Amino acid sequence: MPPVLGGCSSHNSCIAFRAPAEDLDDWAAAGCTGWSAADVFPLYRRLENNDAPGDHHGRTGPVKLRTLKGADPCGTALLEACAQAGIPTVGFNTGTTVGRGANWFQINSDENYVRQSSSVAYLHPVMGKRRNVEVRTGVRAKKLVLDGRRCVGAEYLDPDLIHARTVRARREVIVFCGAIDSPKLQMLSGIGPAEQLREVGVEVVVDAAGVGENLQDHPEGVIMWEARQPMTTMSSQWCQAGIFYDTEPGLDQPDLMFHYASVPFDMNTARHGYPTSENALCLTPNVTRAKSRGTVRLRTRDYRDKPTVDPQSFTHEHTHEHEVRVMTYGLRLARRIAAQPALGGWAGAELAPGPDVWTGVHHDDDDRREVRGPAEGRRLRTRLRGRCSRASCTYASP
Ligand SMILES: Cc1cc2nc3c(=O)[nH]c(=O)nc-3n(C[C@H](O)[C@H](O)[C@H](O)COP(=O)(O)OP(=O)(O)OC[C@H]3O[C@@H](n4cnc5c(N)ncnc54)[C@H](O)[C@@H]3O)c2cc1C
Repeated sequence: MPPVLGGCSSHNSCIAFRAPAEDLDDWAAAGCTGWSAADVFPLYRRLENNDAPGDHHGRTGPVKLRTLKGADPCGTALLEACAQAGIPTVGFNTGTTVGRGANWFQINSDENYVRQSSSVAYLHPVMGKRRNVEVRTGVRAKKLVLDGRRCVGAEYLDPDLIHARTVRARREVIVFCGAIDSPKLQMLSGIGPAEQLREVGVEVVVDAAGVGENLQDHPEGVIMWEARQPMTTMSSQWCQAGIFYDTEPGLDQPDLMFHYASVPFDMNTARHGYPTSENALCLTPNVTRAKSRGTVRLRTRDYRDKPTVDPQSFTHEHTHEHEVRVMTYGLRLARRIAAQPALGGWAGAELAPGPDVWTGVHHDDDDRREVRGPAEGRRLRTRLRGRCSRASCTYASP
């Protein structure tokens, strides 16, 4: 996808969900001063223009949030099936963390259900109006301009794709190129792990071992059923409802989450030969608190080259079992939900990973079996956000 104002908020699922207070407080306890729930929740109120009831919601902020009305009959059946499976319909974004519950999402949209990306919320209203804001589109940052160890500007490629230009800052440079391109830009500028930078011929300015480390993502699997009735084509978006779940006792926040999709999510399954359908529904188990940490590394010193991204999901020696357990638990729970009477009129044949994937329940770590698809040797590919990772799984009972 070419660069776009608003970044991923211009193409993502628009789901607006508050971070659990417990998570924020963990951040603060880990040293992120200013990120506790007490610090952050007032900011939600300030940025929101929310149609949901409650004094904790803002009414006049730039970010418009709407509660979905639930016009999708399959989604309605899903919520009933969740209730039948012991997962109650609960309010989202009420200020109380949902450990176990399902509902329609709130989404970033205006009253006409038009997407409100971060650029629509923050940039569009001031572009051409504020003298201290100038937006240059079609350009690409090549490197940061450093004065010694101080960043004083950026060099960027002009839209003509030939000439480099420089912008200089009087006070501050803020880099927000996303989780992958931000460390890439820093490394291209000589800020990063010295040895790695030298390997690709970048002159080291600041030896910073942490740059490109600790990439964190939420692995997302997919289970897809052929629909027995025509799926809605009128929904405001594809992922309208979600499910949160706690897979073990004593958790203060969910460790498993599903998107419900009213369309086939076959981007990874189809290319591996799983059957698909234009009329399908999906649940996508997410490991919400994945512990694996990945890396971003420069492949070359050419800014035009993509970096090497290794999410390392399901691979970390100390965290592998946790992520595999939550993911496989999610797949089994999804099947339990789909088997409830309320979804009987909707969930037909399981297309991926397919009914023959599971052969039993194994708890012995040494008896690890691969999750296999219909063809021998084919591994279940999990749908990461734009990437893939392999899952080699033991079974867990939901
Ligand atoms: C498929 C998908 C669905 C998602 N759904 C949701 C959802 O429903 N709800 C939710 O809350 N989150 C969702 N997310 C996550 C959310 O969109 C991201 O967490 C968020 O957009 C990250 O914002 P960011 O500003 O850090 O980076 P980004 O959104 O990645 O923005 C970075 C921007 O920098 C630009 N850029 C990069 N390098 C350069 C360069 N060298 N020069 C100039 N510009 C550059 C990029 O083009 C981009 O515009 C989703 C993500 C994906 C991929």
